[in-house]
Amino acid sequence: MIPYGRQDITQADVDAVVAVLQSDFLTQGPAVPRFERIVADHVGAQHAVAMNSATSALHLACLALGLGAGDLFWTTPVTFVASANCALYCGATVDFVDIDPATYNLSVPALADKLAQAEAAGRLPKIVVPVHLCGQSCDMAAIGALARRYGFKVIEDASHAIGGRYRGTYIGDCSHSDITIFSFHPVKIVTTAEGGMALTNDPALAARMALLRSHGITRDPAQMEGGSEGDWYYQQVELGYNYRMTDLQAALGASQMTRLDPYVARRHAIAERYDALLADLPVTTPARAADAYSAFHLYVIRVLESDTAPSRQTVFARLRTAGVGVNVHYIPVHTQPFYRALGFSVGDYPEAERYYAEAISLPMYPTLTEQQQDTVIAALQRALTP
Ligand SMILES: *Cc1c(COP(=O)(O)O)cnc(C)c1O
Repeated sequence: MIPYGRQDITQADVDAVVAVLQSDFLTQGPAVPRFERIVADHVGAQHAVAMNSATSALHLACLALGLGAGDLFWTTPVTFVASANCALYCGATVDFVDIDPATYNLSVPALADKLAQAEAAGRLPKIVVPVHLCGQSCDMAAIGALARRYGFKVIEDASHAIGGRYRGTYIGDCSHSDITIFSFHPVKIVTTAEGGMALTNDPALAARMALLRSHGITRDPAQMEGGSEGDWYYQQVELGYNYRMTDLQAALGASQMTRLDPYVARRHAIAERYDALLADLPVTTPARAADAYSAFHLYVIRVLESDTAPSRQTVFARLRTAGVGVNVHYIPVHTQPFYRALGFSVGDYPEAERYYAEAISLPMYPTLTEQQQDTVIAALQRALTP
């Protein structure tokens, strides 16, 4: 089976992890701050806080921005459930903004409309989370302008998007947001097995996320009540978690980062070849947004619904049978049973649901060969035949 996504592990990656295994620190050593510095410098952010997952990073980003019970939080329905669950962890109320039918990212006109209505009703959100779906940036300048006008905070869920750019700078520099989140799950652009990171230019937000990452415990006398009692001493000053990344993971991540830009360039080459090979087939290929250079985490096609052509379900099943490990990203979050129990219904976000009915993610990863790509295209051609 040709998978839809796959990590690339080199001998240099293996050597970097083995060196940590043979060192004094498996966790809480020098590799984590080193990895944080590498990512922050690469994307152009001031501060980086590594964690054990992007889900943890989303949670602490919400807490650092003060999200709590009674607050409102908005995101897109076309995302992984973690983009919304982070608000529920904080006791906040989740709502969604429908997607743009061309880019499948959160629709800025829909966001503007919903904000105007929310202002009139006195129900403005505290945080909005745009998700850079498939690695392509949302229209962040417009979202940033709305954030200033209506006074909400912005967390970019860039789990798909490390190495992507917007208006000439890397996603993660937080030019139009308070915090940006990356994921290092193996299917993403670079991996630490499990892992995530929060980027910000605000030192207070970075310090708060670092504190909450490790139990809310500090060893810094400046943060203590009454000062230190000696070298053994620490104080718990908040209720935190154990969301730490290990040094093994950070060493893998640092080694992977040396190949980030070539990885994204290779993903673009694969995407352009897909575009050309799919030109005559009855599918919609990914739109390129103005001002955005996608990280191309995913290459999603839409199988156009018609009475004569095979359905998405049929095309998907035929591809899997042919050994092509396609997938679907994503089942709209508001249609999940857990979210329906919170009051959402099928039909609430029509563009998201139309997209979901037609979407298929084709194999996309840097080591995908042209021969494998040709196999995918031939199988797709057969699968689309009535
Ligand atoms: C993968 C992903 C996450 C969660 O990442 P983890 O590192 O697995 O916790 C969150 N949001 C989006 C959009 C993702 O794709």
